[in-house]
Amino acid sequence: MRVVSGIQPTGKPHLGNYLGAIVNYVKLQDEAHAAGGECFIFLADLHALSQPHDPAELTRNTREMVATLVACGVDPSKAILFNQAQIPAHAELQWLLNGTARMGWLNRMTQWKDKAGKNREGQSIALFNYPVLQAADVLLYQATHVPVGDDQKQHLELARDIAQKFNTDYCPEDAPLFTLPEPYIPPAAARIMSLRDGSAKMSKSDPSEMSRINLTDDADTVVKKVKKAKTDAEPLPSEAKGLEGRAEALNLVTIYCAVTGKSTDDTLSEYGGQGFGSFKPVLAEALVETLRPINARFLELKDDTEALDAILARGASKAREHAIPTLSAAYKALGLLRG
Ligand code: ATP
Ligand code: MG
Repeated sequence: MRVVSGIQPTGKPHLGNYLGAIVNYVKLQDEAHAAGGECFIFLADLHALSQPHDPAELTRNTREMVATLVACGVDPSKAILFNQAQIPAHAELQWLLNGTARMGWLNRMTQWKDKAGKNREGQSIALFNYPVLQAADVLLYQATHVPVGDDQKQHLELARDIAQKFNTDYCPEDAPLFTLPEPYIPPAAARIMSLRDGSAKMSKSDPSEMSRINLTDDADTVVKKVKKAKTDAEPLPSEAKGLEGRAEALNLVTIYCAVTGKSTDDTLSEYGGQGFGSFKPVLAEALVETLRPINARFLELKDDTEALDAILARGASKAREHAIPTLSAAYKALGLLRG
């Protein structure tokens, strides 16, 4: 069992990252550890270069993301926690895979279309080429399980296509180099939506702070954001079917169920018929309870730069050991002489 997943240090991690991905990092880290496998969790700082960024902010966000992941339960003694920039093999393998990835495949990526919008010509090459770096990230470690939110499913399929084509084009039939990775997507809460727009996913890069609950938000901020969340004028339905076509209502119920562990049916039989004026405070309270221990641990860790850097250095030295053999085999398969 090889678990590999990454998160961009592009801003503050939010509830969508937590429920869609981080909860599963913790679950799979424990399973891999118990089974004698490995779990690699990395800060995708090279990916962060795909958008305009402030260097000092990237450094700060990278350390804060380490503190947040540890506060959420990622355990550096069980998982290999590191940042991409300390392992040049990620960028090298991306270049090697650039010969295999096709323009047409990348052109079909919905994240590229969403993030580029109408201004494709003005985007960085890194934004277009982002899924190839992501393929390198997981193929480098021969990942079997990749815990991600629903938005990354398409990128994972692309990583499989790249691996498959590389194996077919450059490896003997009985000795493929790359393992085909499987996405590990939570059945519920795989796509948490923005609090301001039920048709857009909650994102770090959304310009509106009110669109997301950050894992580091204090109780007052959480209450304020939930209170201001967009809803419709109808009361909650008593059955799940009544949430159809009501994206904002569905999102709030999904979040409530995910953080309390209650089923949609139980939640709606309890709150059906009530307006958001009474449901929102219940939701806010549940969120505050979930975030309280994460917040407390984050505050303890966030300013200990030395400890955070030491976690990354230790993780990088372990990750490097696993990355080098695959990278060397990829150079060899392509016929590149390296002395
Ligand atoms: P950015 O806007 O900078 O792309 P992001 O919010 O999409 O940031 P990422 O760092 O790209 O966050 O993704 C980290 C992980 O969180 C990925 O596994 C991704 O699938 C998951 N994720 C991101 N947003 C959501 C969401 N709204 N719901 C569920 N999972 C999510
Ligand atoms: Mg993203």
